[in-house]
Amino acid sequence: MRISRRLRLSILAVVVALLATGRILEVRRLAVPLARDPGVSSPAPRLDAERMRLDLETLASPRFGGRATDTPGGGMAAQVVASRFADLGLASFSSGFVHPFSFEHRSIRALWRRNRPFTETFSDARNVVGWVRGNAAPDSFIVVSAHFDHLGRIRDEIYPGADDNASGTSALLAIAAWVKAHPLAHSVVFAAFDAEELGLRGSRAFVQSLPFRRDQLRLNVNVDMIGRSDDGRLFVSGVRYTPELLAPLEAAAKTASVPVHAGHDRPMWMTGLIDDWTAASDHSSFHDVGVPFLYFGVEDHADMHQPTDTADRIDQRFFTAAAEMVLSTLIEVDKRLQ
Ligand SMILES: [Zn+2]
Repeated sequence: MRISRRLRLSILAVVVALLATGRILEVRRLAVPLARDPGVSSPAPRLDAERMRLDLETLASPRFGGRATDTPGGGMAAQVVASRFADLGLASFSSGFVHPFSFEHRSIRALWRRNRPFTETFSDARNVVGWVRGNAAPDSFIVVSAHFDHLGRIRDEIYPGADDNASGTSALLAIAAWVKAHPLAHSVVFAAFDAEELGLRGSRAFVQSLPFRRDQLRLNVNVDMIGRSDDGRLFVSGVRYTPELLAPLEAAAKTASVPVHAGHDRPMWMTGLIDDWTAASDHSSFHDVGVPFLYFGVEDHADMHQPTDTADRIDQRFFTAAAEMVLSTLIEVDKRLQ
C-alpha cells in the first residue's frame, strides 16, 4: 500500500515536471518571432487598406445582425462577398459563386437553456467560392479561406464579430483583388465559409464535395481574426505538420511590418497546456483530410465572442500589416510549390 502510494506520487511528480518543462520550452519558442531582414524595407502596400476597412465596417455593422448562419444578416454577408467576386471577375465553379449546404447542429446548451432545441436543422447555409486560374500550374489549387459567419444575436444583443471574422473576410476580398490582377503560378481559390461558429460546417461541406480532385488541392491558407492583437504579435500555425512551409514563411516574414510567430500547433500535453490551434478554425477540415495548412490569427482577446467585438476596436495598422503578410506568404508558397 505504501509503495503504491509512493509510486503514484512519483508518477504525478514526473507528469508535472514534464508539463512544466514542455511549457517553458513552448513559451520560449513562441517568444521568438521569425527573423525580419533589417536591410530590406517592407514592400509598398499591395492591398487596398481603405477598401478593407470599409468592408470590415460594413460586415460588422448592425444591419448584418452578427451574420449568423441561416439568418437574413448571414445571407446579406454571403451576398456582399459573392457580388464582390463577380465585380472582381473571379471565375466560379460550375454551380456559381454560392455553394449552398445544409446540416444538423446538436447543441449541448439545450440541457441548461430553456427554449433551446437539442437538434437544429440549418437548411440554407452557403459558402461563397471563386477562383483565379494559375498561369503555370492551373490544375493545382491553393485555397485561401476565411469564415464570414458569426454568432448573430444572443438575448437581443448583436455580436458583430468585427475581428471574428469580418477581418479575415475583408482581407480575403483584398487579396482576391490583388491575385486577380497578378495571377500566380498555381490556381488560387477564395473560399468564404459559412457556419464556422457552428462547428466548422462550411469548410467541412467544402472538402466533402470539392469542385476538383482531392489530389489537386495542395494547401489551405486560413485567416481568422487578424484585426487586432493585444501584444502586437501575429501567429501562424501549421508548420509543425509540414516543415517545408517554414522556408516560404520565413521569406515572407523578412519584410513583414508586424512580428510573426510560428506555433500553437503542438498538442497540449507536449506544451504544458498552451493552446493548440490545430482544430480552432476551418483549416482543421483541411488538416483532417491530409491537406497542409497555414492558419493566421491572434491570441484570444477580451472582446472575442462578445458584443464588444466592434469595428472601432480594430487596429488598422496591425490589420493591414497582417493581411500583407498573408499575401506575401501566398506569393512565396506559390513560388516554391512543385
Ligand atoms: Zn473565427
